[in-house]
Amino acid sequence: MIFDLELTAKIIWVLFIITWGVIRYKPNVKSRKVAKSVVSRTFKERFSMIASSLGLGYVPAVWIFTDYLDGFDYNQSIILMIIGAGFLLISLRLFRLTHKALGKMWSHSLDLREGHKLVTTGIYETVRHPMYTAFWVWAIGAAFLLPNWVAGFSGLVGFGTLFFLRVGQEEEMMKAEFGEEYEAYMQRTKKVFPKVY
Ligand code: SAH
Repeated sequence: MIFDLELTAKIIWVLFIITWGVIRYKPNVKSRKVAKSVVSRTFKERFSMIASSLGLGYVPAVWIFTDYLDGFDYNQSIILMIIGAGFLLISLRLFRLTHKALGKMWSHSLDLREGHKLVTTGIYETVRHPMYTAFWVWAIGAAFLLPNWVAGFSGLVGFGTLFFLRVGQEEEMMKAEFGEEYEAYMQRTKKVFPKVY
C-alpha cells in the first residue's frame, strides 16, 4: 500500500480536534466573562456531557493513542473515509458559523447569561440548534472516517445521548425565558435540519 489509511484517518481526526479547539477558544474566553443567571447542572445534564465527550473525544483518542481497541478495527474503503473527512470539514464550518452568531450567549451546558439575548440571525435563521447539527455532522464524519467499530460509532451514541436528553429541556428553558418570542421562533424553524427535523 502506498500510504497507511488507518494512520491517515488518525492524523485527520487529530487535526480536526485541534482546529475545533482553535475555533472554540476565543468564544470560550469571551463568553466566560459574562456572568450566568441560570445554571442547570442536573444529574441528567452532567451525565449527558460525560457521554458526549467520551463518545466524540475520549474513546476515539484511546483508539488513536493506545492499542486497547485494536480488536475492533476493520478495513474501511477510501471513498467512505474521504466522505467522512468531508463531513468533518462541514462540521468545522458550522461550528465557526454558530460561534459567530451566538457570541457571548454560548455555553457548554444549559445556562443563561446576564442580559441573555435570543439569537435568531445568521445560521440561527436556518435551524434553531445549528451547533447540535455541527456535533451530529462530526459524529457521522467520525463513523465514516475511523476504521474501528468502537471509536467510529461512539460519537453517535455519546452525542445522541446528550442531544435527546438535552434538547427538550433546553427548549423549555428558552421558552421560560423568552416566552412568545421563542415560541414564534420554534414555529418558523426546525431543530437541526431545515424543513425535515
Ligand atoms: N442549542 C444551540 C446552542 C448550544 S450552546 C445550538 O445547537 O446551536 C447551549 C446554550 O446556548 C444554552 O445554554 C442556551 O443558553 C444558549 N442558546 C441556545 N439557543 C439560543 C438562541 N437561539 N439564542 C441565544 N442563546 C441560545
